Amino acid sequence: MDTCLFCRIVKKEIPVKIVYEDEKFLAFEDIRPQAPVHLLLIPKTHFASLNDAPEGAEGLLGEILFRAREIAREKGIGTTGYRIVLNTAGDSGQEVFHIHFHLLGGRRMKWPPG
Ligand code: 5GP
Ligand code: ZN
Repeated sequence: MDTCLFCRIVKKEIPVKIVYEDEKFLAFEDIRPQAPVHLLLIPKTHFASLNDAPEGAEGLLGEILFRAREIAREKGIGTTGYRIVLNTAGDSGQEVFHIHFHLLGGRRMKWPPG
């Protein structure tokens, strides 16, 4: 999608600090980090949110969790712990409507989240 911020990041039209890339996924540093490690993991194909995930995307969505686990390990937070956040629609605070998983770690997380 031409107007989607994260599609433009996938096309390298907007610079980000990439930490992982393969044919299906991209992971990059969040521009406003909320923890010492705060990355965004996205599928390169566009869908707006979990609510918009098409039938058949189950594998892709499962795989992204395994990529997140590997990246957490590489970033040194695999054993200290990390949080994966998938904001979906209005009340969640989702701001960018290209599905993305936040990977947060490097500090003690609070519960319940704000
Ligand atoms: P949401 O609230 O939609 O779950 O999260 C969107 C995230 O995207 C926010 O954490 C925000 O800081 C991040 N973000 C928004 N615009 C940009 C950008 O241009 N570059 C990067 N790296 N992150 C962005
Ligand atoms: Zn997009």
